[in-house]
Amino acid sequence: MPELPEIRTIAAGLDDALAGHTLSGLEVARPQCLNGTPGEMRDWILARRVVRVKPRGKWILFSLDDIAGDLVAINLGMGAEIRLPGAAEEPPDHYRVRLHTREGSGVFIRFWWLGHVHYVPGDDETHPVRLLGPDALDEGLDVDAFRGLLEGRRGGIKAFLLDQRRIAGIGNFYAHDILARAGVHPLRKIPTLGDDEIAGLHRSIREVLGESLDLGGADYERDIFGRPGRFSRESFIVGYREGTPCGLCGTTVVRIRTGSTPGDICPGCQPLPEDRT
Ligand SMILES: [Zn+2]
Repeated sequence: MPELPEIRTIAAGLDDALAGHTLSGLEVARPQCLNGTPGEMRDWILARRVVRVKPRGKWILFSLDDIAGDLVAINLGMGAEIRLPGAAEEPPDHYRVRLHTREGSGVFIRFWWLGHVHYVPGDDETHPVRLLGPDALDEGLDVDAFRGLLEGRRGGIKAFLLDQRRIAGIGNFYAHDILARAGVHPLRKIPTLGDDEIAGLHRSIREVLGESLDLGGADYERDIFGRPGRFSRESFIVGYREGTPCGLCGTTVVRIRTGSTPGDICPGCQPLPEDRT
């Protein structure tokens, strides 16, 4: 499932390829992924210029000219391929949506499961993309701003990190190691976290996501040219290492339930004192 490093990699490629181009065609093989009929969608977005393509949490946003805030918002759901077709390339099997531009470029989108291509008008304040928290790698999200996000929150820290309305772009794949590197158990309640632990979480978010972004994202996702990322889960210290030694202290990693998601933790690095839950 693509998270912030993969989304940023794909969005940067699309921005290079499509910014300044005018949308001229839309083919839809699976209308359920749209938030209107294919005809409505064509009326809303065709003949409009793509000003920029930007990542936002787990979304990819095409900003459209003429109306400030008007967007095509793409969510890759549980995983997807977004490809810029080569000049002579046939469409991949089972693509769901194809966009063409007047300049002769375009994009194929193939969702594995639960993807969306939405039109979001500039004055729509209720669409999920308007309700996102700051991007986890946002320049302005320094440690004080991160502490501010946690203020007054009473729930568990992992649930907070995965809640896109609080902080955007983190999913379960990177959450294991973000918590482990900070030495924080996923079930810790936010009010029990000390200043050092909050600073450690802020630092590990930057490190874990930043390392993957520098490598073009996870190796099970691909960029718009079909090239896989170079970040391997082998470099995690606890994530997906159940039954093997923690990369920091050697304690055996265990898998626990953390809300609706599994969590890999190191009982040595991430103790859960009874009075801290
Ligand atoms: Zn450990």
